[in-house]
Amino acid sequence: ARVFAGRQVALFGLGGSGLATAQALVAGGADVLAWDDNPQSVEKADAVGIVTGDLRGADWSRFSAFVLSPGVPLTHPRPHWSVDLARAAGVEIIGDVELFVRERNHHAPDCPFIAITGTNGKSTTTALIAHVLQSAGRDTQMGGNIGRAVMTLDPPATSRHYVVECSSYQIDLAPSLNPTAGILLNLTPDHLDRHGTMQNYAGIKEKLVAGSDVAIIGVDDSFCEQAADRLERAGQKVIRISQRLPLKNGYFAQKGQLFEAVDGRHAPVIFLEGIGSLRGQHNAQNALAALAACRSVGLTMDEIQAGFASFPGLAHRMEQVGRKGDVLFVNDSKATNAEAAAPALSSFERIYWIAGGLPKEGGIEALRGLFPRIAKAYLIGEAAPAFSATLGETVPYEISGTLAAAVNHAAADAANDGAGEAVVLLSPACASFDQFRNFELRGEAFRQAALAIEGVMPIGG
Ligand code: ADP
Repeated sequence: ARVFAGRQVALFGLGGSGLATAQALVAGGADVLAWDDNPQSVEKADAVGIVTGDLRGADWSRFSAFVLSPGVPLTHPRPHWSVDLARAAGVEIIGDVELFVRERNHHAPDCPFIAITGTNGKSTTTALIAHVLQSAGRDTQMGGNIGRAVMTLDPPATSRHYVVECSSYQIDLAPSLNPTAGILLNLTPDHLDRHGTMQNYAGIKEKLVAGSDVAIIGVDDSFCEQAADRLERAGQKVIRISQRLPLKNGYFAQKGQLFEAVDGRHAPVIFLEGIGSLRGQHNAQNALAALAACRSVGLTMDEIQAGFASFPGLAHRMEQVGRKGDVLFVNDSKATNAEAAAPALSSFERIYWIAGGLPKEGGIEALRGLFPRIAKAYLIGEAAPAFSATLGETVPYEISGTLAAAVNHAAADAANDGAGEAVVLLSPACASFDQFRNFELRGEAFRQAALAIEGVMPIGG
């Protein structure tokens, strides 16, 4: 990042993206002093020539900025925490998204920059937009919270498009954030452990759209609806999207069709029917946001329709991995709590449901309304006893123990369902750590077990 050339910068957090950020700063001519509480991370940084040192003993008056890596909390349970030292010395505290934004504003302020936030659907929407832009032949860079650290993307150039997923944390540390199109998908109480109150959490997320040229806002929840009204009253260009209600202006969804509305007149512009990777109500919201964003950078409806149709979807999120006759195998391993499992259970019927793992508070009580869609449940991991108690007499179940056994039993039962499409669905409503290192490995194990069954044909990659 050339914006700090010749100046001194302190950096804390040398995990993957922190290290990449430190390297980008050094490559741009900054004088960086970096630190991490984990000695192994410090060693790795030393090995690639980053200057390291405990920031507690540093002379803070010499720093132009303090860069905090994504994931490092602002409050830290130890004395002489660098954030407090930076504040005391009047050194600004920023994150990697802020560095990217300054770089862009300095070198290519006109390059299209789409930023996405919200409680749910961020990654799907980000990946979808990047895919559509790329399919339309635009030079596209995707990063941020979705995986690749923003500072490792190709440098800003006028015709280059950036699609960046932002966590609340990254927004909070990016005071200059000014995307061409900002997307606020939805706001529901989540992550409140970190941000204190809902007001505070919503306020941080709203900053992303408040700073954008065009604010694309999902108005299906009251927090976002109020944000849209507030920004519009303040004179900002707002595009509303709704997966529930027809709007007078904006984009809305109804029965698998996306409509464009102008002054009360509307017409269908995009068809989601038959696009497996965008199945479900929740994906209508993601698709609407992508539609609005892609229109705002000049794509045609045909380009957007074609991009949607070829979108492969994201792994582990309602991912269709295989099919054998009427039986579809769906990997939703990312659903690590009941709330996250609800969209998948709402999107299918005749469900042979594999659930369990390390249970969260409340278990699957919140899913009770969806139980009629479940033909049978296959319980795995530590949650099995608690989940079986909740299912009780309402839903047939077995305690399968392992994921492999659950897949085999569910596949055999689903094959005998005989009532049209049946779905073997892994949507565990639990963390994976009792049986797997992470949700990705759990999803991979599901895919392998499904594809090992005779006659199951793979879908997608
Ligand atoms: P995020 O990046 O915000 O965590 P993802 O796109 O990874 O979101 O989706 C994670 C899960 O959240 C999905 O598997 C689905 O269950 C749910 N989800 C996705 N999009 C939405 C949405 N627009 N509204 C509500 N839930 C959603």
